[in-house]
Amino acid sequence: MTETTSTLPITSREFQLAARPVGAPTAANFALVERPVPELSDGQVLVRNTWMSVDPYMRGRMDDRPSYIPPFRVGEALEGSALGEVIASAAPDLPVGTTVTHFAGWRDYAVIDAATATPVDTSLAAPQHYLGVLGTTGLTAYAALTNVARVEPGDTVFISAAAGAVGSVAGQIAEKLGAARVIGSAGGAAKTELLLDEFGFDAAVDYRKGDLAGQLAAAAPEGIDVYLDSVGGEHLRVAVEAMRPGGRIALVGAISGYNGATAEPGPDLYLAATKELSLRGMLVTSHFPLFGEYIAKAADWLANGTLRTKETVYTGLDQAPTAFLGVLSGANTGKMLVRL
Ligand code: NAP
Repeated sequence: MTETTSTLPITSREFQLAARPVGAPTAANFALVERPVPELSDGQVLVRNTWMSVDPYMRGRMDDRPSYIPPFRVGEALEGSALGEVIASAAPDLPVGTTVTHFAGWRDYAVIDAATATPVDTSLAAPQHYLGVLGTTGLTAYAALTNVARVEPGDTVFISAAAGAVGSVAGQIAEKLGAARVIGSAGGAAKTELLLDEFGFDAAVDYRKGDLAGQLAAAAPEGIDVYLDSVGGEHLRVAVEAMRPGGRIALVGAISGYNGATAEPGPDLYLAATKELSLRGMLVTSHFPLFGEYIAKAADWLANGTLRTKETVYTGLDQAPTAFLGVLSGANTGKMLVRL
């Protein structure tokens, strides 16, 4: 049985993908279309959307390429996080009047399965916060700095896109986690002032002024321990150079490349973000405590023939430079050695 408010809409406006963009999208890529509101089936609710989120990742969904989330389809409604009020319900768990978040944004009204909606407590915070600081935005900042690139007390932390949704929350969470110094990067004087005056950053760099590396070095003369990367490209390059040994980077986004029509040279580290890859540097010297364990195992494997090894041997000290240059150019198979 369907519970309703007195008057229900017959039609709803929705934005559809009109055409896929090449490079930066324009208004021509979107079409506003009016469509009938479907009847509710059992277990569904009709939601009047009051807020919707627009997020950088949606740019990727406008392209037709495989990713962690399917592309938008041309001629079909866009989607994304939204919040609204249930105005008709065929789901006992979600009565009329419930405020919910769900994924059918970009439209006035949405018919959704109740199982895909999450009720939110509007007495706890303003409803729209559930699409921002209390939504995936806030969780992204928190998870990045507690789970992915853990902030330790005393750390120097660098946050990119720091005046944006994730970044502005991340800067404040870094401080709460005990960071000694939090530096934010943003575009333009108004935003960098906001970082200092409103969001409590200790220093701010304006990447649009240029010399990002120099500005970051001035703000963090001893380097940085944690970097939250939302931008990729130049920001990531500069941050890697500024990292202290043992530093941690959370690859969260790469917005500087989202509108690129062609791939930049070098690895596409946005794929490392979306595939949740682990990239970790190593120096063997840090692993010397493993030596005993390894030698015991490897000697056994050599003895029983399950570990094979090869050597390329040059004879005579005079051959040492040739051997050395050879190892750089692939003249060796297995271990290159010089027998003296
Ligand atoms: P946002 O930061 O509120 O908005 C994007 C900001 O990016 C803009 O305000 C702009 O600020 C900055 N920007 C745009 N082009 C830039 C460029 N070429 N160089 C430097 N900065 C640039 O957006 P958000 O929702 O919080 O997302 C931030 C990042 O996190 C995005 O990369 C997004 O894809 C990513 N994200 C990832 C996850 C995840 O699960 N991995 C979840 C949420 C968000 P300026 O004016 O300062 O340039």
